[in-house]
Amino acid sequence: MAEEFDLEHASTGNMFRQAVSEDSGLGEKVRSWLDAGKLVPDELTARVVGELVLERWQSFILDGFPRTIPQAEMLDGMLREREQSLDAVLYFDLEEETAIERLTGRLVCKECGENYHRLFMPARRCGVCDRCGGELSVRTDSSKEVVRDRLAEYDEKTRPLVPYYERRGLLRRVDASQGPDAVSRETRALLTGLTARQQT
Ligand code: AMP
Repeated sequence: MAEEFDLEHASTGNMFRQAVSEDSGLGEKVRSWLDAGKLVPDELTARVVGELVLERWQSFILDGFPRTIPQAEMLDGMLREREQSLDAVLYFDLEEETAIERLTGRLVCKECGENYHRLFMPARRCGVCDRCGGELSVRTDSSKEVVRDRLAEYDEKTRPLVPYYERRGLLRRVDASQGPDAVSRETRALLTGLTARQQT
């Protein structure tokens, strides 16, 4: 969808996983948090977004960032310095049980970071990425225990962002309990509305 709307896709999870797989300095720092399903510290995460996203691109979808109020405040500050602002925040609204089902079946392409699900969004050829032909692997954070910890972190640290962005009039809800096609349709309609607004 980023390609369709001519935006860069900036996923902090993908950036961290790539750093881990390349054994870079950043990868070494973040590996233990990723494996445990814990959030990487706010300062480090915001610095990565500043350097790898805001310094390089003008128009982007931030995927998985911010995940805490301090991250959102740092993002506001970094955008203000650049005289930029957020157009909208998409909230994919989902029951916890469905989230658990989806998080425990995830596969990721080792090459391009594309996500799949064993049952709900399988690759056309088992174990092979549809997009780049890379090998799919089970995410290290997809075990039941780690998923439970990730959701506990979500409740404590990420959920407060819903009222935070609602108060600023930026929150747009997507009913994520639907299948991938319907979720894509709703998301596309929202993005179309936003880009149309920018052009007027
Ligand atoms: P994701 O692919 O977005 O589910 O992220 C995978 C993992 O990367 C998370 O469980 C965290 O360990 C780390 N991570 C990704 N984004 C953030 C963020 N905004 N703040 C802190 N940690 C993050």
